[in-house]
Amino acid sequence: MNGQRRDSLLSPEFSTRVLHDVPMSKHTSWHVGGPADLFFTPRDVMDLGAFIRQLPPDLPLLWVGLGSNLLVRDGGVRGAVISTHGALGQLERVSATRIYAGAGVPCARIARQCVKWGLGPAEFFAGIPGTLGGALAMNAGAWGGETWRHVIEVETLDRRGIRHARTPADYEIAYRRVTGPAGEWFVAARLEFERKPASADGAIRELLERRKESQPIGEWSCGSVFTNPPGEHAARLIETGGLKGFRIGDASVSEKHANFIINHGAARAADIEALILHVQRTVAAVHGILLTPEVRIVGDPA
Ligand SMILES: Cc1cc2nc3c(=O)[nH]c(=O)nc-3n(C[C@H](O)[C@H](O)[C@H](O)COP(=O)(O)OP(=O)(O)OC[C@H]3O[C@@H](n4cnc5c(N)ncnc54)[C@H](O)[C@@H]3O)c2cc1C
Repeated sequence: MNGQRRDSLLSPEFSTRVLHDVPMSKHTSWHVGGPADLFFTPRDVMDLGAFIRQLPPDLPLLWVGLGSNLLVRDGGVRGAVISTHGALGQLERVSATRIYAGAGVPCARIARQCVKWGLGPAEFFAGIPGTLGGALAMNAGAWGGETWRHVIEVETLDRRGIRHARTPADYEIAYRRVTGPAGEWFVAARLEFERKPASADGAIRELLERRKESQPIGEWSCGSVFTNPPGEHAARLIETGGLKGFRIGDASVSEKHANFIINHGAARAADIEALILHVQRTVAAVHGILLTPEVRIVGDPA
């Protein structure tokens, strides 16, 4: 899309606030990904609705939280990226056991705040380095906890910028998979917990410490690349397929946790995608099981 055409897509109100050709490597935890044509961070939900309403209805939209489960290809993203992180950040306790959180709130903040409020079990949110919006889209979970087990209601925005209130009954919810009304994205949720004494503070620290022993935390990754097949662990299948340490370009299968792929600094999205395919094919050949990627792969090849 050329610059002139892009500007003509936007009303004057937004044309100065929308960024152009933003490298998605700055917005993903793998630190790879080519440019987004348009990149917008809303002020709030009203602002976001107004932004969406003035876009051409066929312009593709990609909603992004913290990019911790996202492989953006090297050619980048056509259309508009909507970044909820740093926006949609409301977090409130609305009753004895319920909270209201915006889609841009980091899950770790929900975990910490719930401990302060004496609500739980919300410690599992501390293990998810994404936003609530991403956790809703993925049904993210850790340490036996899962996002949608706590959802009472979600607020969504559709392609015309109209808000909807939805309940879990409107969605098909499975392990790391959520299917709901097409063309809607999450802007907030009401979550329910139980009353719990504040001692869970130490529990979060302990869980994070334990995780550091088994996962390459601090390196550039997207967490687990593949979902666990029923009754199996993707990491075990990859490890016994002899793939630990296998490298393409500057990306390799982690030595510490075989379901993680690490960018050592200069990997391209194409290296990571080629590695994902190689792992898939090898595990299929060795074990006869086709691994399903948990990470979302988007954008154009270079
Ligand atoms: C070190 C590490 C450890 C991890 N451990 C875990 C773990 O234990 N458990 C786990 O489940 N995950 C884990 N993850 C993966 C990741 O953190 C989760 O999937 C998280 O929920 C993604 O949130 P995000 O905001 O980063 O989403 P993004 O990566 O930005 O987006 C992920 C998907 O959600 C969509 N999306 C984002 N926001 C919205 C929205 N508001 N409305 C609709 N769709 C939206 C995106 O379009 C994309 O398809 C880990 C990742 C890392 C890097």
